[in-house]
Amino acid sequence: MQRESEKSKQELPQKRCGNCNRLLFYGYAKSLKIKCPKCGNILFFEN
Ligand SMILES: [Zn+2]
Repeated sequence: MQRESEKSKQELPQKRCGNCNRLLFYGYAKSLKIKCPKCGNILFFEN
């Protein structure tokens, strides 16, 4: 089961901070607000 989750994670799109390009998470966000832990930039994701 561990390998299955790793595989699916790689197939998901990467969401990165537009300011410092840090990888924030994998997947689809319908409506999400997240603060970048590196630079503190507030990001909004909507698909
Ligand atoms: Zn950032």
